[in-house]
Amino acid sequence: MNLAAFPRTRLCQAPTPLELLPRLTEALGGPRIWMKRDDLTGMGLGGNKVRKLEFLVGDALARGADHLVTQGAVQSNHVRQTAAVAAKLGLACTAVLEHRIETNDAAYLGSGNVLLDRLLGCAIEYRPGGTDMQAAIEEVGARLASEGTKPYLIPGGGSNATGALGYAAVALELVTQANELGLRIDRLVHATGSAGTQAGLVAGLHALSSPVRVLGIGVRAPKPAQEANVLRLVRATAAFMGVDRPIPDDAVEANCDYVGGGYGQPTPGMAEAVRMLARLEGIFLDPVYSGKGMAGLIDLIRRGAFSTGENVVFLHTGGSSGLFGYAEFFNEAHE
Ligand SMILES: *Cc1c(COP(=O)(O)O)cnc(C)c1O
Repeated sequence: MNLAAFPRTRLCQAPTPLELLPRLTEALGGPRIWMKRDDLTGMGLGGNKVRKLEFLVGDALARGADHLVTQGAVQSNHVRQTAAVAAKLGLACTAVLEHRIETNDAAYLGSGNVLLDRLLGCAIEYRPGGTDMQAAIEEVGARLASEGTKPYLIPGGGSNATGALGYAAVALELVTQANELGLRIDRLVHATGSAGTQAGLVAGLHALSSPVRVLGIGVRAPKPAQEANVLRLVRATAAFMGVDRPIPDDAVEANCDYVGGGYGQPTPGMAEAVRMLARLEGIFLDPVYSGKGMAGLIDLIRRGAFSTGENVVFLHTGGSSGLFGYAEFFNEAHE
């Protein structure tokens, strides 16, 4: 694994902290729970997409691009982080936002991440739910190119082999921190969506011959589709990094039991997880990803999936600005 071979634009405040959550650990009475704070990567309120953008934007600049084009749901954290990076580097940014959730809620449509996208000067185009969003950005990119700009297309979530390099780099960062702390990590748990985070971690840990096992908690697709998507991207990322030791078929594990009604649809477990982390640790999760990921971890601990001597690291992938888009849900009882 030679990450120095790839163009990279440094954007993250890294290494992000790796810290024990003592009050959450005590409240659940299970394994020791640690948190890798990738909500604190820094740029544009932080989150996991800045990790991927270091390599994506490195590639964009190497190719002479002057306009980032990407897509996501209305409350996309990825779009917010891309827009912030574009602003910092003086690049134009266009985001195509999908009305993936049917709602007239004013906060969802106008606050949280989409409010920040507008403040960042990102041009926004909307598409109805169910649109082929990759095709949509290709169309927008072709239009921008015909107008004389040099667009660089970033897939949803920044999840391709280039973006996943960001999480191969985190695998190295985390293994180094654990070694310094003398910490044996038994499980690394995080929310998985567009697959790049888990794929980069699994590819990076594989390249390092690390025994750390990763569990993705799904937020959208059913388990077979999610595991297949991630595995495909693990193999593409490993090949891209020149790691030729084969990736076993069972290298990827996802648990998709905590999606609830669908992508971005709140669940009682998510609400409980968001409140627990706020009240026990002063840490904000998000309603779409890390809240459901933590809901999964809490439920698995309650079901006895881990023993008390084990060390579980939860990767906090960010997204708390999305909470403001869900103000109505959190304000209406649901305690
Ligand atoms: C995008 C995102 C994820 C999921 O990461 P993927 O690489 O898309 O699987 C998790 N948490 C937050 C807060 C995100 O914005």
